[in-house]
Amino acid sequence: MDLKNDVKYVKGVGPNRASLLNKLGIYTLDDLISYYPRTYEDRSVPKPIMGIKDGEECLIEAVVLTKVTEIKRGRLCLYKLTVRDETASCNITWFNQSYLKNIFRIGVKYKFYGKVTNKNGRYEMNSPVFDQTGINKNTGKIIPIYPLTYNLSQNTIRQIIQNGLKTVEYELEENMPNYILDREKLMGKDEASYKIHFPDDFEEFKKARERLVFEEILGLQLALLTLKNKYVKDKIGISLKKDVGMDTIIKDLPFELTDAQKNVLREINDDMESQKIMNRLLQGDVGSGKTIVSIIATYKAVKSGYQVAIMAPTAILANQHLESFNQTLNKYGVRCELLVSSVTKKKKEEILSRLENGEINVLIGTHALLEENVRFRDLGLVVTDEQHRFGVRQRQIIASKGKNPDVLVMTATPIPRTLALILYGDLDISIINELPPNRRKIETYAVTSSLNERINIFIKKQIDQGRQAYIVCPLVEETEEIEANAVLELAEEYKNETFKGYRVEYIYGKLKPKEKDEIMQKFKEGKIDILISTTVIEVGVNVPNASIMVVENAERFGLAALHQLRGRVGRGEYQSYCILKYNSKSEIVRKRMQTMTSTNDGFVIAEKDLELRGTGDFFGTKQHGIPEFKIANLFEDVQILKRVQEIALKIEQEDPKLEKSENEPLKKLIQNKFDLEQLNL
Ligand code: ADP
Ligand code: MG
Repeated sequence: MDLKNDVKYVKGVGPNRASLLNKLGIYTLDDLISYYPRTYEDRSVPKPIMGIKDGEECLIEAVVLTKVTEIKRGRLCLYKLTVRDETASCNITWFNQSYLKNIFRIGVKYKFYGKVTNKNGRYEMNSPVFDQTGINKNTGKIIPIYPLTYNLSQNTIRQIIQNGLKTVEYELEENMPNYILDREKLMGKDEASYKIHFPDDFEEFKKARERLVFEEILGLQLALLTLKNKYVKDKIGISLKKDVGMDTIIKDLPFELTDAQKNVLREINDDMESQKIMNRLLQGDVGSGKTIVSIIATYKAVKSGYQVAIMAPTAILANQHLESFNQTLNKYGVRCELLVSSVTKKKKEEILSRLENGEINVLIGTHALLEENVRFRDLGLVVTDEQHRFGVRQRQIIASKGKNPDVLVMTATPIPRTLALILYGDLDISIINELPPNRRKIETYAVTSSLNERINIFIKKQIDQGRQAYIVCPLVEETEEIEANAVLELAEEYKNETFKGYRVEYIYGKLKPKEKDEIMQKFKEGKIDILISTTVIEVGVNVPNASIMVVENAERFGLAALHQLRGRVGRGEYQSYCILKYNSKSEIVRKRMQTMTSTNDGFVIAEKDLELRGTGDFFGTKQHGIPEFKIANLFEDVQILKRVQEIALKIEQEDPKLEKSENEPLKKLIQNKFDLEQLNL
């Protein structure tokens, strides 16, 4: 049976149901059997009636005490029965099912599964499914519940999946090598595919899920490895001269580099001098000094005769980079230019021609750099500053403007190593894990609304001393209108009441880029006291005079996001403060806030985030382009993730191209599951 077969040929499907299944994203037999349950109902272990909570769905096993009585209520006909186990009795009701009248025998034990109401110890069950004890037709097993079914009932979809599984039973090809199955004690493919839908008990379910999660993560990890090989290992990159050191520029800096900076520069320098194409991720907290590292690498590339492209997510950030680069590099005769969409046509043409003839050494810009007419004479280094991932694709486009240039990706989002290997599995990783000395710690407070008054007084005091404040409110819903309203409402209140007399401005996603830039510029120049915004706008600018960051409804943000926001203050000489206003009694929220107040270390926060995973999207996984998994959950499955990565690393060392016969199944696995070109990570 071919897994790629159209689902409409599965027994019980046909064209009508097929179109409903299509709506669920199920087109092939493979899609069908990997439409995994959302949850399971345990109809296998009965509960004592006494103590069942109101509203609980469960199985009871009890003796029938009465005959079924029929009660007519208008068009409705109720069928009632009383049963009892060792602990208590329970009344059962069905509606309009006359066949039930003569089914039950008094004194005989049955199992009932359904929702129980408990009103002060009076137990009632409505419309349960049932079996006589000893029979396991509707009960006695674990029943899968599927996520979405449209017009298909749970029963129907369950039956269809069962039929689908029957057609492949014992024919599903094992796509995991034996040595991995043995070492990791994993369930076989065939068994796991069946048991994930129809486990006999929860132990079995766990084993089945473990196996499928393992397969899914390993597949992705190996796909990323393949990507890395494809673009890096087989190609010969630029090797820069050893006699153009980084020492000159490092000696001239007004400060001493931290040990962490020196270490990553050594790694970068080695990459640049070797023939291998550098494809490296530089991770480090806001303010840890990544930019200066990229400036030093740029110096080396330019002095070796190559051009450099620096790509930032926004025009403001690009501008800021231009300032930093000029400040450090101008004195060595390095010429930097800015290319963003707002540059005039004439100016742009001039830049493009100077770029092509090599007069410009460093081009700094936004996505505008990706445009086709941007041509370098000799691009040797690409640096991307990624607030969120730019994606493999975009990095490739810019890299393709040179002959296998080195690529350095910078991110200020601290990501635990395990996750980084998934997110950036195609890159080597360097980490700056210390801040330059003499940084003042940003003082962080988590407060509830009862302290509003005092907070506002505190903010005014700071402003009166000449400082500025950010106030960030969350995006309540992802529509621009509501976003704007949330900001506007708060801005009105703050402007006209709370902070009357102060210069309050607001900024949000829907404003034109030019308007946003203007407001940010005004803030930078100190012409605004309080800037209210949502996070959709770029607050990544450097405003050393801003000393307060207030986050409204902080419980709605992921810890990583809060940490990012906090990094917007504490950039100057002033003691800075981060105030997290939260509105929740949840223990997890309290712990998360506590994490924020107790540490400033982004990596510690990221690990905690992972640990405290509750509901919600802490890392902003979507923003980071974490691929959507069918069954794996990167937060819950960290342990499996670690096991997978151990194996993946071993394979990377011993058989990176999956050429050994023992790894043959893995090769097939990633060919089947991942279309690498489509993998828009
Ligand atoms: P990042 O890019 O990681 O956010 P930056 O490179 O912008 O950090 O550095 C933040 C500030 O710290 C800059 O003003 C930079 O000049 C300064 N800086 C960088 N490294 C050091 C260091 N080793 N010692 C002192 N100051 C440093
Ligand atoms: Mg190189």
